[in-house]
Amino acid sequence: MPLDYDYWPCPFCGEGTIELMVKKGAFSAKRTACRAGRGVTIRKTKSESFVVSDACPSCGKKDEEIEKKWREEGLI
Ligand SMILES: [Zn+2]
Repeated sequence: MPLDYDYWPCPFCGEGTIELMVKKGAFSAKRTACRAGRGVTIRKTKSESFVVSDACPSCGKKDEEIEKKWREEGLI
């Protein structure tokens, strides 16, 4: 399966851009409309992604903290 890079906002400060590597087909993003407003739900089908950045360029959170946060939230 081909690997691809993706860029997500930092889960801690929301300002830094975190580079991560994803396996194609590992995610399906779905637009949602709910009372809280529109958003995008990313569904996990495989745990095949990992953070590439060393740390957030904005708040300095380490890659392992960011990855842990996303795993806790079920995004990766
Ligand atoms: Zn940050």
